[in-house]
Amino acid sequence: MEVKTHNNCPLCGSDKYSFHRDIFWEGYEFSYMTCRCGGFFLNPMPNQEWYDEKYTNDFWPRKTRKPRWFQWKKQIQKAEHFIKMIGDTLINDKPKVLDVGCSYGYVGRILAMNYGSRAYGIEPSIREREWARAIGVYMMKGFDTGEQTDKNLYDIVIISHVLENMVSPREFLTQIYNKMSPNGILIIDTPNIAHTKSWHIWHPYLFSRECLLNLVGSMGFHIMKDGTWGKIGMIPYRHKYLTVLAVKDEDTDTYR
Ligand SMILES: [Zn+2]
Repeated sequence: MEVKTHNNCPLCGSDKYSFHRDIFWEGYEFSYMTCRCGGFFLNPMPNQEWYDEKYTNDFWPRKTRKPRWFQWKKQIQKAEHFIKMIGDTLINDKPKVLDVGCSYGYVGRILAMNYGSRAYGIEPSIREREWARAIGVYMMKGFDTGEQTDKNLYDIVIISHVLENMVSPREFLTQIYNKMSPNGILIIDTPNIAHTKSWHIWHPYLFSRECLLNLVGSMGFHIMKDGTWGKIGMIPYRHKYLTVLAVKDEDTDTYR
């Protein structure tokens, strides 16, 4: 396994971070660092190729042992949650919806159906990708790197349980930014740092509310709404997930 050691926090660039706790996985030992920006990151950190390979061959086969209807139900609930959150924030007519890491594709498909538009998806796992295609999501191999025109920009981009898996979240968000139309809406859903069950090797990063808002705000987006949801057992005020709804800043319309 190839790992990278970070001298500065990859989320905020600060060197003011400290050891938080060890994570053990199949004989390897990793450590979460806690940074003053409010985030955790693994240091050293496996590279993206390692994660991509593990996601396809190890993580998904494990996750999909749960019945599919259970995954579908969760996706439908999530779509309803996002539609409610978008509310009247949406300016663009017939929004092109892109769901990055769309799995079975229900979230993007339901959103697009709700707005009478088309859903696009990116998904590395073959079985889920084929399912999403079958329910009417237009599947893409990855971000098209061709010329940017008004026609290939997205009005709603969903990144649900993806950002915490990317080894370079800032680069990933820049890529997303460049694919969005002016006034485009970005929805990020990620595990809440307070949910200790999400502290594991699959998540090179974990975000607190403060950390995620600062990160997204520093990448050319204007935060419109945010919140936590999904109760952790009986504990009041502690939630499993963190959602941010942000709009691409009109003033920073030039592609970076
Ligand atoms: Zn930091």
